[in-house]
Amino acid sequence: MILCVLCGYLLFIVGPRNCIPCLTVAAALLSPSFLLANSGAPPGPIAISVDASQVSQRILHAKLVIPVHPGPLTLFYPKWMPADHSPDGPVWNVAGLKFFANGQEIPWQQDLVDMYAFNLSIPTGVSSIEASLDFLISAPRPWIDFSASGAANLFVLMWNQVTLYPKGWPAADITFHPSLTLPKGWTFNTSLPISSQSGETISFAPVALDLLVDSPVQSGVFSRVYPLNPGENPPQELDVVSDDAWAIDVPPELIEHYKKLVAEATALYQSHHFRDYHFLLTLSDNIMGLGQEHHESSDDRVGQHELVDPNARLRMAGLFPHEFSHSWNGQYRRPEGLATPDFQQPMKGDLLWVYEGLTDYLGTVLTGRSGLLTPEQSRDSIALTASMLEHRAGRRWRSLQNTANAAQILYFSVPEWSSYRRHTDFYQEAILIWLEVDTTIRKLTGDRKSMDDFCRGFYGGSDNQPVIKTYRFEDLISTLNGIAPYDWRTFFRARLDSTQPGAPLGGIEGGGWKLVYNDDPNEMLSAEDATSQSGDFTSSIGLRVKHDGSVIDVIPGMPAFESGLSPYQKIIAINGGEFSLEELKRAIHDSKANTASIQVEAVNAGKESSHQINYHDGSRFPHLARVNEVSDYLDEILKPLTSMSTR
Ligand SMILES: [Zn+2]
Repeated sequence: MILCVLCGYLLFIVGPRNCIPCLTVAAALLSPSFLLANSGAPPGPIAISVDASQVSQRILHAKLVIPVHPGPLTLFYPKWMPADHSPDGPVWNVAGLKFFANGQEIPWQQDLVDMYAFNLSIPTGVSSIEASLDFLISAPRPWIDFSASGAANLFVLMWNQVTLYPKGWPAADITFHPSLTLPKGWTFNTSLPISSQSGETISFAPVALDLLVDSPVQSGVFSRVYPLNPGENPPQELDVVSDDAWAIDVPPELIEHYKKLVAEATALYQSHHFRDYHFLLTLSDNIMGLGQEHHESSDDRVGQHELVDPNARLRMAGLFPHEFSHSWNGQYRRPEGLATPDFQQPMKGDLLWVYEGLTDYLGTVLTGRSGLLTPEQSRDSIALTASMLEHRAGRRWRSLQNTANAAQILYFSVPEWSSYRRHTDFYQEAILIWLEVDTTIRKLTGDRKSMDDFCRGFYGGSDNQPVIKTYRFEDLISTLNGIAPYDWRTFFRARLDSTQPGAPLGGIEGGGWKLVYNDDPNEMLSAEDATSQSGDFTSSIGLRVKHDGSVIDVIPGMPAFESGLSPYQKIIAINGGEFSLEELKRAIHDSKANTASIQVEAVNAGKESSHQINYHDGSRFPHLARVNEVSDYLDEILKPLTSMSTR
């Protein structure tokens, strides 16, 4: 008989670390509620009413009625946003902040250290206060600005923009009673359940703070709803809003692919963690572009012409499959370090290669299965990703794991120097790694099991409820071992912690293909270049450049860098002629036959300079080539599970 040295409980395995009562106490001490250090019931429902009637003037008005007790009170403005994995709540655009109790104004002070905390002293006899604030809406800029969420004819209300909440309780325990007043004649779409509507004012059902922040409202003058699984449950729909009437008519063939996406996701996951699901698609050049996941919706914003521009449509093909997959991976199953109890506790991004990276892989799979990309386009997309990562100069010093750990700063890094610095590479590189997991499972089990089995197991349970179930690295390992026993820990660590130059290409090779370079343009690269008005010469001279000659990036060790070019310089001439992307393409193409270097004239901070790019390998576009000796698992992975036609 062995007793726990801490509490005396009978142990079958030695040590207090296996004692159930001790573990229960420890778990309680470490629970989010305890860490928030408050006792007593959370405050009663907080009423929040948002007046968006002046949103065209780029201003929102909000009023909150917050139950309080006399004494010191700290109110938080949401800081760490779950879908951003970063402390980027747009507090800088809050204005007009005032507090009142019984008709008297109460002074407030912003915390000197935490800019998201507001301190008040509540007078005796006061049981609730009214807070009023405005939120100022900006216009899209080249960097991330979540304030750029509205324009003349439309807006997306992100409740965190206008919300304050009291310190001390988990967001899941604080109830809000929201209402919203829209400009006259505007319609709206959201996953939030509605209790009533009177004129332009909508009252929503009471909702926990975490779900409120997770449930944006899209609204506009021009709006159209497309059911994606009519007659089935749970309902899933595409809600479109745009600046102009013509743009809300989504091409019919795209609707068919989105219906197929919904059917393929159901077949893949075989579970739902939403009561209904809304793809909130905003087509506008006047708000920030975005793809943001939520439990029961996604906030998808692209340019107004993107559904009718063939190149832009290719570029955004993976947007819905990615954001939709997040309802299972990221929202329902979330890494422990990213499932913080409120919006104030810092997040840990070490498992973002699963939260975002596996979502990117599953999104790639569903993009292929729903026909949004053809198999050839899917392969070109994977080849382009692999080539980018093969030429990532920064992988010699910064591991993939570090890109996840440092995500909260890397999200805000600029495109310049991105090869050497690295960016949020845990998205793209994890596509290759999870493809290798998929092909390895298929190989280990004689093609009887795959990542489809992982999806059914890891994301199963709790149907039709937007809840969060956390996991750790060990949970991934044990789930994978339940499908195909293997040294998965070593497998992942070798790829995550490496500072070797080569990208992980085992999934492409295990899938029956290999990465090659040739003269044939890569269709996905051409689409990307056309829509971004730039040229990506990563795999030839190691250069990315805008259409006006502004250098975006050069890759240390490759010919453009060796010639002395750098980001922030501007190329003005190629081989004696005026710079254009076409001239540069021609010079690279002709380099094979030329013994002379490519002559480049550039301007660097107002000073002209000459550069010789010593390169003679011609055009090098990445593709996947079939290896006949190996089973074509990649083709199998991209094949639809359902027989639903998109014709
Ligand atoms: Zn994502």
